[in-house]
Amino acid sequence: MGGGENRPPFQPLKGRDWQEWFQELPTPSYILDEGKLRANGQVLKALQERTGCKVLLAQKAFSNFDLYGTLAPYLAGTEASGLYEARLGREEMPDREVHVFCGAYRQQDFGELLKYADHIVFNSPRQLAQFGPAAKAAGKSVGLRINPERSTQEGHAIYDPCAPGSRLGTTRAQWDAAMTPELTGLLDGLHFHTLCEQDSDALEVTLGAVADRFGDVLPGMKWLNFGGGHHITRPDYDLERLERCIRRAQEAWDVEVYLEPGEAVALNAGYFLTTVLDAFQNGETSLAILDASAACHMPDVLEMPYRPPLYGAGDPGERPFTVRLGGPTCLAGDVVGDYSFDRPLAEGDRLLFGDMAIYTTCKNNTFNGMPLPDIWVLREDGSLEKLAGFGYKDFKYRLGQG
Ligand SMILES: *Cc1c(COP(=O)(O)O)cnc(C)c1O
Repeated sequence: MGGGENRPPFQPLKGRDWQEWFQELPTPSYILDEGKLRANGQVLKALQERTGCKVLLAQKAFSNFDLYGTLAPYLAGTEASGLYEARLGREEMPDREVHVFCGAYRQQDFGELLKYADHIVFNSPRQLAQFGPAAKAAGKSVGLRINPERSTQEGHAIYDPCAPGSRLGTTRAQWDAAMTPELTGLLDGLHFHTLCEQDSDALEVTLGAVADRFGDVLPGMKWLNFGGGHHITRPDYDLERLERCIRRAQEAWDVEVYLEPGEAVALNAGYFLTTVLDAFQNGETSLAILDASAACHMPDVLEMPYRPPLYGAGDPGERPFTVRLGGPTCLAGDVVGDYSFDRPLAEGDRLLFGDMAIYTTCKNNTFNGMPLPDIWVLREDGSLEKLAGFGYKDFKYRLGQG
């Protein structure tokens, strides 16, 4: 994580004039890039072949299941945040592993969850005691999420599960207070997830904390899941250090190592096409209103926050005309960011944001009655195919029966 400074370098669509390529597409539309997904998959597959680790897709970042077939040859399976994602992984990437971690499971869901998941990771010793025996009896591999209490990121508290008072993961103190031999006996593995858009130096620090706090119990485990947040497919990512971390865990504790990145699977593998609806001046500030909303269609731009790459545009002041791009919603802060252009923007101009496959299509909303964008795929042969379109009924019927 870490806003602009840690975002992947901006990679233009090589040799392609996107204006022409996408000219028939309506806006707003997300466009998923099958070739980029496959390229990411190849990096992850090679990592697994070199180290013997297993890599899962964290579906919360990317769950456009029409592309699971493209990704499946490169992945060991899917990771889910709960019942629905576990079912999606089982249905759409069948014959692969389904892992699930949830902050707390519901009694009424648990029986159905057992139909889909192979690995079930609990957040607390209490939930492990409540559901672990049923999971074990159903033949599942059972895990507990630990909290190594080692923050490796600054300034983004919303993404730091190692902060004091965190609800995510079991600290060593919580473990010592609650883990009886019977409970420990239920465990096949441990899981930690503490990173966000980070390089392997942060993983190395985290793994050291895991060794310090849980090194005594790890030899009794079959697997250790390193969670997500590894920006593995970013071009400057330190893969060798990651491989050393994986080997260290394999050798020290004789565990199978899992990684469950979300972002890294679909990094730079999607675009968001939008049209300028209005452009005007307020004092010194040039403004443009798009038919797309940061709040609705790219919520992490506000939540993280970050400024997404925009094709043919520069940083503020870099080119002659700097414009603040925002959405048509009522939210004053529905601003994507400030960008500079070679000429002023005008109604009808089309703009293309990059790195829009992750935390977008699976996280958007219809606040203000905003329409949901189409979802298209750019196939490897250059053709475009519509995967999903939405309308008034998608806005209305999530609010009531009518
Ligand atoms: C969010 C999350 C992931 C994926 O994180 P990315 O930053 O998208 O790689 C994996 N595992 C767990 C438990 C998560 O919460």
